[in-house]
Amino acid sequence: MTDIPRACGGCNACCKPFAIPEIGKLTATWCTHCVRGVGCAIYETRPGACRMFACAWLKGVGEGGDRPDRVGFIMNQTGVQVFDRTIEILELLEIDPGSLESPRAKQIVDHVARGPYVVIQRRQVSETEFQPEVVCGRGFLNDAERAEMHRQLQQ
Ligand code: SF4
Ligand code: SF4
Repeated sequence: MTDIPRACGGCNACCKPFAIPEIGKLTATWCTHCVRGVGCAIYETRPGACRMFACAWLKGVGEGGDRPDRVGFIMNQTGVQVFDRTIEILELLEIDPGSLESPRAKQIVDHVARGPYVVIQRRQVSETEFQPEVVCGRGFLNDAERAEMHRQLQQ
């Protein structure tokens, strides 16, 4: 695709965070088909969700050195429908334990805090679970929207 300026290379960090029900993969758990640093053992028949996913780094967010397997976290741009508004979200998903405490993660949060995003960090708290935390951008939401987003994040 010409509009994606970067390449995954040996990264397969996104084979950990997301649940993929069709192959029985749980949240926050490495996919059993993932050969870390090499690739997907079922590449030709991998699920549609795997084919479609492109993290924010791959789409050009951050610097070249911020490839997820190198910094230990994934940046993901997404949207959450809150009542009649779609709220732009940048989530930082912890892949390696402690990576969200790194100077680079803090620098990125400080930087994106100036943009139009609600920023959410998801730290791993068990083998199959992330704990979401809104770290900045609450100002884009009124009280009711904040409560609704909190409810959705807990699901
Ligand atoms: S986390 Fe991003 S760079 Fe890494 S494999 Fe997934 S899409 Fe590619
Ligand atoms: S099926 Fe392949 S691409 Fe999808 S999560 Fe598993 S290893 Fe990664």
